[in-house]
Amino acid sequence: MRTLIKNVEIVTMDSDNHYYPSGVILFSGDTIEYVGIEQNLPANLNENTEKVKEIDGRGMLALPGFVNAHTHSAMTIFRGYADNLPLWEWLTTRIWPLEEKLQPGYTYWLSMLAAAEMISAGVTAFSDMYMFMTDTAKAVEDSGMRAVLARGLMGPDDQSEQRHKEVEELAEWRYRAEGRIHMMISPHAVYTCSPEYLKTCRKLAEKYQTGIHIHMSETAKEVADCVREYGKTPVRHLYDLGIFELPVAAAHCVHLTDDDMDLMAENHVKAIHCPSSNMKLASGFAPVDKMIERGITVALGSDGAASSNNLSIFKEMSLASLIAKGYTGNATALSAETAVKMATIMGAKALMLQDEIGSLEPGKKADIQLIDMSGPHYYPKEDPLVHLVYSGYSGDVDTVIINGKIVMEHRKLTTIDLEQVYREVDNVARKIK
Ligand SMILES: [Zn+2]
Repeated sequence: MRTLIKNVEIVTMDSDNHYYPSGVILFSGDTIEYVGIEQNLPANLNENTEKVKEIDGRGMLALPGFVNAHTHSAMTIFRGYADNLPLWEWLTTRIWPLEEKLQPGYTYWLSMLAAAEMISAGVTAFSDMYMFMTDTAKAVEDSGMRAVLARGLMGPDDQSEQRHKEVEELAEWRYRAEGRIHMMISPHAVYTCSPEYLKTCRKLAEKYQTGIHIHMSETAKEVADCVREYGKTPVRHLYDLGIFELPVAAAHCVHLTDDDMDLMAENHVKAIHCPSSNMKLASGFAPVDKMIERGITVALGSDGAASSNNLSIFKEMSLASLIAKGYTGNATALSAETAVKMATIMGAKALMLQDEIGSLEPGKKADIQLIDMSGPHYYPKEDPLVHLVYSGYSGDVDTVIINGKIVMEHRKLTTIDLEQVYREVDNVARKIK
């Protein structure tokens, strides 16, 4: 089955920044065949007897689907439940006691809620670190999303063996759902994993030939405790343990020294910037402009809905750019174009999926969002990326395609029964809250 999106404004986010004020996107099955002006469409299109489905993209902007590079999707259940608290107190007094009550099966519906929210906001791929991840894998399969999943690991303690069993079960889901499910290994952080255990996690990642997804240097307390205990920063600590010999995506990276950033750049550690979570938990300002200056890949993450209250990459793009300018006192810091790169191609790199997604070009997967640019907040017409970052809302996303399949059409979800998801999430809330 081939699909042709016509009369659409296209921002490709490819390495040459190709832009078409009015063009077409042709995809066949799950793969993009052509992006460009209609006149240059492959000649065989009309000769082919196979039917071509057409989508009219008039008034829309086509952009690669956003990548939410750090989230805990099942934490949608805690949305609005614990606010106005610093990270440590928030975790220990509100979140962890409730997490104890989560059961297998519950997290399927909590992840479906997250998938519905992300698709509605143009997010087509996400990277998740949590528990009961085979539930989330099933939600990824059913919702049609693309994801890199990881069982969050801490320890060692008496639960470690059980968690490793869950890693093994998750590994069975790898490459399933038409290849949309991937896996990483996720030691939670340096303050919840011993040095020996971090090495165990490294071995696990080697065994599964994948990368590491970790929280790193999120708060001043984390860094100070690490320096007190090991005599070095979390970044230097992880480097010394050999973790950076593997691909690493590190969430937060708020409190970094120049030496930390040099180590990250030299070892191709990707940072995942989560500005709304960092602001709300008062963790601080990540030095995003300095990381980008050093050539570090910086992606965007919403973090869980418990800490940032929604999973919108639109919001993270806007905050990332505004905070970088306000914090540095430099109005040229973190442009709208950089923010959109962080939300798309840099996100794909953080997920180790840059060969598949992150830009609209032939050979890549058809993960596409069509954004309705007809609202008054997009007038008059100017640079579409500037409009998206400073004027855009998640609700402007009209149609979302993942792996060549339409998962939202004119704001109607095609793979998720939202009413059923709400009912099931209410059931879980009654059981645990
Ligand atoms: Zn997190």
